Amino acid sequence: MKKKDIKSITLNELKEEVKHLGEPKYRAAQLFGLLYKKGIEDFRNMLNLPVSFRDLLQENYYISKVDLIKSAKSKDQTEKYLFKLEDENLIESVVIFSDKRVTECISSQIGCKYNCLFCESGKKGFIRNLTVSEIINQVLFVRKKMNSNPNNIVFMGIGEPLDNYDNVVKAICILNSKDAFNVGVRKITISTCGIIPAIKRLQERDWQIELSVSLHAPENKLRSYLMPINNLYPLPDLIEVCRNYADKTNRQITFEYILIKGVNDSPNYADKLAKLIGGFNSKVNLITFNPAPDSLLQAPAAPQVKYFKNKLIAKGIPTTIRISKGDDISAACGQLKSLHLK
Ligand code: SF4
Repeated sequence: MKKKDIKSITLNELKEEVKHLGEPKYRAAQLFGLLYKKGIEDFRNMLNLPVSFRDLLQENYYISKVDLIKSAKSKDQTEKYLFKLEDENLIESVVIFSDKRVTECISSQIGCKYNCLFCESGKKGFIRNLTVSEIINQVLFVRKKMNSNPNNIVFMGIGEPLDNYDNVVKAICILNSKDAFNVGVRKITISTCGIIPAIKRLQERDWQIELSVSLHAPENKLRSYLMPINNLYPLPDLIEVCRNYADKTNRQITFEYILIKGVNDSPNYADKLAKLIGGFNSKVNLITFNPAPDSLLQAPAAPQVKYFKNKLIAKGIPTTIRISKGDDISAACGQLKSLHLK
């Protein structure tokens, strides 16, 4: 019989499995504590469980982990980790320190299907979804290293998290569980290119999870050029779904907008953007495009970025400019992996 990956099981599922093995349900919470609070990686070392139960666990389950193969630390303290998975695929996580808060940016897939024009990860194609445990193990690694949880967890690494909906939701259940990581769902952000059916499903969970939507253009044609997913889920429909999400969850939606010189950075686009997203609880996070060495796209000059921001603010849209972290260690999504493979 194939052993099950115990870190891919939520607490409720584990309660049922433990019961099935003839043990009381409370053993599941105990096991969660040993796996995630204590970080024990071998059932035989779970000494406060009965020997017979440890033997059953050993027979039926395994404890997965990720292998760190490379790390880098930036001058601004940003840390980046490159992990090898059991099938030799590589994933990355980034840990960002600011104002005494620690944010971990985690990956949800190996590669990505969506091929956005400005994204290096998207150009390399899609390999597979990460399992629940592969998502969880990125956080567990950092928790063990820092001896505490990151304050915030953002699904903003490689991959589109809502394209791996079931595993991402299960991972959030484990991260949120008080017997495991106890991270509040309000401290977890899902960043999406706009998979409408999945946003609706997420809203139905009534979780108040932070949603960050990559917009990058205020009109349909330009967005389809930058983000082919827009052909499937067009901008007007996406904005409508975001409006509902903000209303139902009472959470502010963040719209990410990468400013690309001569493509989407004219003042006219700031006006259109303000008109598009005005009137509901949202804010804009402007990101100056960070071109790869062979990119045909360019970054706008700093005054242009500031002008775009001020235009939005003048129209009543809360707007920030994202400060780039970890530039000296290739902290953008996919860069450490690319360097390693080269
Ligand atoms: S920006 Fe996000 S959705 Fe688009 S290709 Fe990159 S990882 Fe995929």
